Amino acid sequence: MEEELLRLKNEATASLDSLNKKEELDTFRVQYLGRKGQFTTLMRQLGGVSPEDRPRLGKLANTIKQDVEKAFAEKQAALFGVASAGKPVDDLTLVGRRIPAGRLHPVTQIMDEVCTIFERLGFEVAEGPDVELDFYNFEALNIPQHHPARDMHDTFYISDNVLLRTHTSPMQIRAMKTRKPPLRMIAPGKVYRCDSDITHTPMFHQVEGFLVDKKVSFGDLKGILSVFVAQMFDKDVAIRFRPSFFPFTEPSAEVDIACVMCGGEGCRVCKQTGWLEILGAGLIDPEVFRMVEYDPDEYSGFAFGLGVERIAMLKYGINDIRLYYENDLRFLEQF
Ligand SMILES: [Zn+2]
Repeated sequence: MEEELLRLKNEATASLDSLNKKEELDTFRVQYLGRKGQFTTLMRQLGGVSPEDRPRLGKLANTIKQDVEKAFAEKQAALFGVASAGKPVDDLTLVGRRIPAGRLHPVTQIMDEVCTIFERLGFEVAEGPDVELDFYNFEALNIPQHHPARDMHDTFYISDNVLLRTHTSPMQIRAMKTRKPPLRMIAPGKVYRCDSDITHTPMFHQVEGFLVDKKVSFGDLKGILSVFVAQMFDKDVAIRFRPSFFPFTEPSAEVDIACVMCGGEGCRVCKQTGWLEILGAGLIDPEVFRMVEYDPDEYSGFAFGLGVERIAMLKYGINDIRLYYENDLRFLEQF
């Protein structure tokens, strides 16, 4: 009996090794492991074995049968990728599925770039609330009620006194009211104006920056902005300051760079002028200092503000600001 079992084991193992078709595997299973297979037949004969030998032989028979069943399952898995329980086995040779990588929105990328340039110049980054009080958004920035400059800001009011900020300049007031100079800070964030066309969206992004210290001059402002433009666009791009008006700066200027499309020759984008406006700036108005209880005779400073979407449009040659917010992946994937 014992010899019979071992012979059957060897025979089954050898036969299993030579199999490589599905039909052959089926035949093998019926022949050896099935209900009428050779193992079953042999194990039935255990009944005729003497009672002393029966436990030992029974155990041996079971072990051998399990070994053969295991070898059969492994062979089946190796040949057809099907485990004994019928579950598919992972095919490690399959080509993987590609998971598309996400990326930062172009506006976020430019905003990060602007912040990095100013951080390297020693500016700290401050963020404030989108919903702002009239005092911080207008009053303290020298734009009292009924001042005509309020018309420049198409404001979303929440109540008479509460509004969605129209610029990030309120952070300038919040910082100056709680701290003493020297201060150099930029405030990036969302701002809101009731306006929509190919160059305006009701929500857009702005970075406002300011510096307050003793003896700050317009030359310091020009220096900082020239470094910024050189790093943001191109080190050789021409830059010019044009007199302008903002209620919170005096004197004020708008800053242009040579048109990035035509290099200053004149084209449709720059309306044949050869220049593109990129930001507004100026020396902080003494009235603003009085509002935050700084002595204008002791301190001076400059402030500037730029639209992030506009910088991105100029840098990438985009002609419609609304493209940023349509969430068309064909557009967004280019950045
Ligand atoms: Zn041009």
